Amino acid sequence: MGGGMKNVVYTSERVDVVHGRWIYHDDDMMPWVSCSVCDVCTDSMNKTPYCPFCGAKMDRERRDDNGKNA
Ligand SMILES: [Zn+2]
Repeated sequence: MGGGMKNVVYTSERVDVVHGRWIYHDDDMMPWVSCSVCDVCTDSMNKTPYCPFCGAKMDRERRDDNGKNA
């Protein structure tokens, strides 16, 4: 679209950021998580704010699947 020369201030959060979240899997021995965007599995201890593989920003964990209405 090539607009004019605007002084765009880039913040740490890019506009084109992909949002995803960690999907929990309960295995017998150790729980693990997988990225909802790229499906890469990782140890549940490695949950990071961003997917280290595809760079998706992980939304905060939802609490509605644990201790509902405690
Ligand atoms: Zn990913």
